[in-house]
Amino acid sequence: GNNSINAKLVLLGDMGTGKSSLVLRFVKGQFLEFQESTIGAAFFSQTLAVSDATVKLEIWDTAGQERYHSLAPMYYRGAAAAIIVYDISRMESFERAKKWVQELQKQGNPSMVTALVGNKCDLEDKREEARTYAEENGLFFMETSAKTAINVNDIFYEIARRLPRA
Ligand code: GDP
Ligand code: MG
Repeated sequence: GNNSINAKLVLLGDMGTGKSSLVLRFVKGQFLEFQESTIGAAFFSQTLAVSDATVKLEIWDTAGQERYHSLAPMYYRGAAAAIIVYDISRMESFERAKKWVQELQKQGNPSMVTALVGNKCDLEDKREEARTYAEENGLFFMETSAKTAINVNDIFYEIARRLPRA
């Protein structure tokens, strides 16, 4: 189609869950075992062709929101989409992810497309099930691995498909 959409997408979640790694995997097809901590916010622009639209995602990979919560609204303000990331092997990162869901439901843009992502699914012996939680909260859910690349493209394309059309 001829629809052209610009959308800000923000990544939220505990430090170390793999937010930067997911973006690096998606944007550059790379993975680093020792991904350096993000300083401030990194910005990437990626244009996706989906069946009925061309979607330009402005991806904000943030740091600091994990520790300095008061920074977070600055990141998600104006966002059309959010990816909330937890680490399937770290229960406390899933608890933190639920807090983000609640915060976005309260403060975020009500039409925001929100994905809950259980990253590091290559460590599957340590999985915590979140699918039911996601369904109950109107999120779409995927497990990903920035390491093996499983479902990484799918997350971003699924968001592009779900964004409201102009
Ligand atoms: P961030 O703080 O959320 O941005 O997390 P990073 O992207 O910096 O990743 C934290 C650590 O987890 C790094 O050592 C990554 O190499 C590792 N990591 C990220 N994604 C995966 C994954 O899918 N599988 C595994 N096994 N490790 C990962
Ligand atoms: Mg990071």
